[in-house]
Amino acid sequence: MAPNKSYDAAVIGSGVFGAWTASHLARRGHKVLLLDSYSPGHSRASSGGESRIHRMAYGADEIYTRWSQRSLHQWKELFAKTNTHLFRQTGVLWLAGEDTTQLLRTQETLRRCAVNFLHLDRPALERLYPHMNFDGVAAGLLEPEAGILLARRALVATIQDALSRGVEFRQAAVLAPSSPGRLSSLSTQAGETIFADAYVFACGPWLGKLFPEILGPRIFPTRQEVFFFAPPPGDSRFAPPASPAWLFQDDQVYGIPDVESRGFKVALDWHGELIDPDTQSRTVTPAVADWVRSYIARRFPALAGAPLTETRVCQYENTSNGDFLIDRHPEIENLWFAGGGSGHGFKHGPALGEYLAAQLENGSTPEPRFSLSTKHSRQRRSIY
Ligand SMILES: Cc1cc2nc3c(=O)[nH]c(=O)nc-3n(C[C@H](O)[C@H](O)[C@H](O)COP(=O)(O)OP(=O)(O)OC[C@H]3O[C@@H](n4cnc5c(N)ncnc54)[C@H](O)[C@@H]3O)c2cc1C
Repeated sequence: MAPNKSYDAAVIGSGVFGAWTASHLARRGHKVLLLDSYSPGHSRASSGGESRIHRMAYGADEIYTRWSQRSLHQWKELFAKTNTHLFRQTGVLWLAGEDTTQLLRTQETLRRCAVNFLHLDRPALERLYPHMNFDGVAAGLLEPEAGILLARRALVATIQDALSRGVEFRQAAVLAPSSPGRLSSLSTQAGETIFADAYVFACGPWLGKLFPEILGPRIFPTRQEVFFFAPPPGDSRFAPPASPAWLFQDDQVYGIPDVESRGFKVALDWHGELIDPDTQSRTVTPAVADWVRSYIARRFPALAGAPLTETRVCQYENTSNGDFLIDRHPEIENLWFAGGGSGHGFKHGPALGEYLAAQLENGSTPEPRFSLSTKHSRQRRSIY
């Protein structure tokens, strides 16, 4: 029998983090195997949603502003190369209540990073978006060049492009290794053996299940419910360009305009209950649906009573404060973790893949914020 093929790297998990890591490793000339239990963009993965916001605004957290900039450039390159049109420049509107500290910090960072934005006071907001009720809102910040990634399809485009660069994809559930030291191979549930020099576990909300002792207490998968409402027939106010994507941190609610007539998306950004991504119910909770209905009736009066066209239940894979986890396993030197997207990771796939590919080659200084040692077992969210 022919010996099993050996790879430079095996990337386990083909969500946005794993896919872009595989792609960047292949660009650097490495032989890469990408594995996933399911097909790319499947509905239980955090990357399997229809749409994700791509913004540069991150308060004073300049590292994420810069990563967003790098990533947007690479997403656009990918879509141009693959002749897909999966970024929609809807603009992103960040709203602030009476306390505008975060808004002002964001403005300073955006100025430093040369990101184009407009500061909008309340009268300007009311003039630009007359279909929105700005009760409790003091000011806004509009990033005209930001927008929406059509996420699930963007992920599939990333993987197709990675395959064209030589990455191999295999559908298989991988078992986590149990012994310390350098890892020579991994096994799949079906009994196959995978040989590689390095192993990257980019398993999103599954990381805690795979590595219960190390990551069980450090990755918090939370239930997140998403609602799509049908605007009134013939009414284009809830689609771009009349409506941007928007976030209001005081309410912990955000929305995405009606792109491709999928509906006006509204979702809660507060963390739901802790769940298991394999078994959680994917049906929305009636009480949450009622709350969202009354919220949109207040914020977008013309949507009062609008029918729900779709719902989704997904999960964030939070770290203690929202910083990503990109680090080695503490006892297995050639095994890396890439995860902790914490409800804001999708847009950063390209920059994360680039960073991790360089780390694997020992080519760049590790960013302390991404280390395992900064991931605690008590949640205190600070990245928005
Ligand atoms: C409702 C919602 C809204 C969001 N909004 C935004 C937004 O607006 N902007 C933004 O930037 N981000 C947003 N995010 C966050 C973003 O979607 C996630 O951070 C990102 O998709 C995480 O990607 P990942 O690759 O780490 O995980 P995943 O996409 O979950 O991928 C992990 C993969 O690992 C595979 N896997 C697990 N275990 C195994 C195993 N044993 N063997 C093989 N494969 C395995 C899984 O099948 C899965 O495909 C949102 C998330 C949610 C849920």
